[in-house]
Amino acid sequence: MTVACIGIGVGGAASVALGDAFLLCRGPLCVTPSWVATEHIEDEVRRFEGAIAIAGRQLREVRGQIPGDTPSDIAEFIDTHLLMLEDKALSGQPIHLIRNEGLSAEWALQLHRDSLIRVFEKMEDTYLRTRRDDLDHVVNRILSILLEQHQAQFDELRGQIVLAEDLTPADVILMKNQEIAGFVTDYGGPMSHTAILARSLGIPAIVGARGATQCLQHGESLVLDAANGIVMADCDRAMLAHFATRRAAELSRAEQLRSQATRQAVTADGINVELLANIELPDDVELAFANGAEGIGLYRTEFLYMNRRSPPDEEEHFTTYRAVVEGMQGRPVTIRTLDLGADKQPGDGRGGGSNPALGLRAIRLCLKEPELFMPQVRAILRASAYGPVRIMLPMLTSTWEIAQAERHIHQAMDELKHAGIAFDQDIPIGGMIEVPAAALNAQAFAQRLDFLSIGTNDLIQYTLAIDRVDDELNYLYDPGHPAVLRLIREVVDAGLAVGVPVGMCGEMAGDARCVPLLIGMGLREFSMQPSALLDVREQLGRLNGERLSQAVNQVFDNLELADPLELFEELTRSH
Ligand code: PEP
Ligand code: MG
Repeated sequence: MTVACIGIGVGGAASVALGDAFLLCRGPLCVTPSWVATEHIEDEVRRFEGAIAIAGRQLREVRGQIPGDTPSDIAEFIDTHLLMLEDKALSGQPIHLIRNEGLSAEWALQLHRDSLIRVFEKMEDTYLRTRRDDLDHVVNRILSILLEQHQAQFDELRGQIVLAEDLTPADVILMKNQEIAGFVTDYGGPMSHTAILARSLGIPAIVGARGATQCLQHGESLVLDAANGIVMADCDRAMLAHFATRRAAELSRAEQLRSQATRQAVTADGINVELLANIELPDDVELAFANGAEGIGLYRTEFLYMNRRSPPDEEEHFTTYRAVVEGMQGRPVTIRTLDLGADKQPGDGRGGGSNPALGLRAIRLCLKEPELFMPQVRAILRASAYGPVRIMLPMLTSTWEIAQAERHIHQAMDELKHAGIAFDQDIPIGGMIEVPAAALNAQAFAQRLDFLSIGTNDLIQYTLAIDRVDDELNYLYDPGHPAVLRLIREVVDAGLAVGVPVGMCGEMAGDARCVPLLIGMGLREFSMQPSALLDVREQLGRLNGERLSQAVNQVFDNLELADPLELFEELTRSH
């Protein structure tokens, strides 16, 4: 057996595939600088618009081929591309360049693509990087029509492992119909729509495996281990049998997990745990609901502000929140007030400073600019008339920020009362604990708030002094660092002492390595990506809270001597 290449597994229930390699060669989309004669300019504009129309027809055709039993949100990946195609922000500038500078359609589109990509690159946010992949996929589709390079036809792919430089969400849907065994791409990240689709359609896949299409041969027999991001060639019979058994076990486990989505999350020794979902867009509600989320623990509302110049008004906030609240059918929705700035820059560049992560972001920005904050607060209050809503304040550092935020909230309540508009007068107001200063002072926060939620993504960033979006520092980003664990324990204990619920909505809450430790620390509310809910529910059923809390005590007695997560795993291996 040889490990042929390494990439990033997209995650999800399906991680193993066996099959022959199908090398999908599309050839490079080679666009060179070129111009058209003045008398042909209008023909060129028509050629460009014609290519967009053909791309639209192709995508609608793909949409029509989505199997009936596919989750309904899958079609939205294609709709995103259709919307991009129809958006004047994509086609307006190339047409301008053709008309005013005489550029060829391909060259005008390529230049516009490059300038849009530069904007995406500045943003650095994983979610926006996903949009960058979408942009590439849409532009490449139009370019291949203009260059008359036909998109690959997917015949005869059944049971094969597809190798490609990159794949679009539309490709993935067509390949799912062809019943491919899995795929490997040279490029792309785990947060791209292509990866999300593969995860949600249960296709084992590895992305970002640089050089895969160069070093693997068409037709050779492969094993794909997406859990470890590895593609293997030359496997002997014993290896093949091992992975075939793993694949069969995965299929039956996925089936079983889905059937238990509505079961209460409970540990083996009967501790009830609340499992909630983190969402970014109203569309995420469907999967959260389907995977049995008991509510929304974190709604990241700043995504309403992305990719636009002017902020949404109160009405837009309200209709969006109401859709989420109604979608959750009576289950609580925790709406986080704006966390703009740092890694979540709005289109108008608000927030920032010379060091954005330590700058005027989140609650600081809102308190400084009430005209930004108040429409959102009023909208959240109005949405609370349609179902249980909680307000959550991000990035609190000092307790006076709570008092100031509450003043604004009470002012909004008075305004709504005067206008005779309904809202929940007892709406719970909670705060995120994501700055070490707040964690160390958690009792004071617990005394002033209705609930706390630990945002480990930022808490780790600020505790360990590492920029969370700097890829070069990934190796220092450690949820098991003793200082991080001490702070988390501080917050959980403060909640228990004051009698205020404490949850966690950072990535750690959905991380299988950390869940047992957190249960042992006494955490009972976990909010995570909707796709992680099924696995965590199943994991909880195997845990014994009492034994885990004993192991936590032992780990804390030895915090400086060993790697805390490793020691904890060792102590609890037999549990
Ligand atoms: C966090 O910081 O852990 C968190 C949940 O918030 P975000 O990732 O949106 O900053
Ligand atoms: Mg945060």
